[in-house]
Amino acid sequence: MQDVIIVGGSFAGLTAAMQLGRARRKVTVFDTGLNRNRYADHAHNIFGHDGTPPGELLAAARQQVQAYPTVQLVPAKAQLVSGGPDDFRVTTTDGETVSGRRLILSYGIVDDFPAIPGFAQCWGKTVIHCPFCHGYEVAGTRWGLVYSSPMSLHGAVLYANWTDDITLFLDGHAIIDEERHKLEKRGVRLVDGKLRTISHDAGRIASVTMDDGTEIALEALYAHPRNRPSADLHEQLELDMGDTPTGTMIKAGDMQATSRPGIYVAGDLATGMHSVTFASNTGSLAAMGALQSMLV
Ligand SMILES: Cc1cc2nc3c(=O)[nH]c(=O)nc-3n(C[C@H](O)[C@H](O)[C@H](O)COP(=O)(O)OP(=O)(O)OC[C@H]3O[C@@H](n4cnc5c(N)ncnc54)[C@H](O)[C@@H]3O)c2cc1C
Repeated sequence: MQDVIIVGGSFAGLTAAMQLGRARRKVTVFDTGLNRNRYADHAHNIFGHDGTPPGELLAAARQQVQAYPTVQLVPAKAQLVSGGPDDFRVTTTDGETVSGRRLILSYGIVDDFPAIPGFAQCWGKTVIHCPFCHGYEVAGTRWGLVYSSPMSLHGAVLYANWTDDITLFLDGHAIIDEERHKLEKRGVRLVDGKLRTISHDAGRIASVTMDDGTEIALEALYAHPRNRPSADLHEQLELDMGDTPTGTMIKAGDMQATSRPGIYVAGDLATGMHSVTFASNTGSLAAMGALQSMLV
């Protein structure tokens, strides 16, 4: 019997595993190696590691976590979950079942790319989700933002921090005249119609073409595709869910506790605010929550 089973061993899951390993707890981490930022060459805005490739960060973390003899990293996909506190059971697609007293879900989210030619090829390079992560490198250039939710109106204002050349692509969405005038007054260009293609050279964007044939040159395009949890264990466990501007999350209370006892959630799966630092933070909290609950 393990103390804690962690599903998803990336920034959130490995932070939790480290904390529990140092507390001498028996931990199994299942992971399929598909961290969300694997498309980006470098990860930014990370304490002490600004600009390090994401794969390097994770490889170092795995090595360090494995130094704790009570932690076991298993490269397998968790498929089924059952049971309750002190007897959760997680079964992988290889048919292995592990039992644990507590569960931490940190399996992240998947971005569903829109069917715009060029989008997938540019994702993480010049089609970007977050200016704090990847805005500095293209500051002062021509930026576009694809409307995805009312949050995009806030984005168009925020991005003025990095550049004064911003085009908001409404991509088939309607916004009220008041919002339109507010943005235009701030110098944001608004483009109606839908995006048809993204022209690029090996992921470096050159321009976007609208469905009426208009071509607009850009150096960076910000986009927030719809996303969904990477696995369905939360459905099997019937956990309470909440909405984010672009998807869903597992609701978390104090110390990342979910709506069911003994189950904790961390990382992108637990919030609409997505970053390595937030993932690490909630991973650490989830580990402490799980540990404390075993001491009472
Ligand atoms: C293109 C891009 C660039 C980004 N750049 C930055 C940046 O520069 N700085 C920054 O702070 N943030 C950045 N982010 C955000 C950052 O990637 C996420 O916030 C972070 O990866 C979340 O960590 P996580 O541990 O919650 O999930 P993830 O890193 O997505 O990891 C989830 C893990 O769970 C595994 N998994 C999924 N299902 C299962 C299953 N059933 N069984 C076992 N394992 C499973 C996956 O394979 C994966 O390893 C970027 C995001 C994107 C999309």
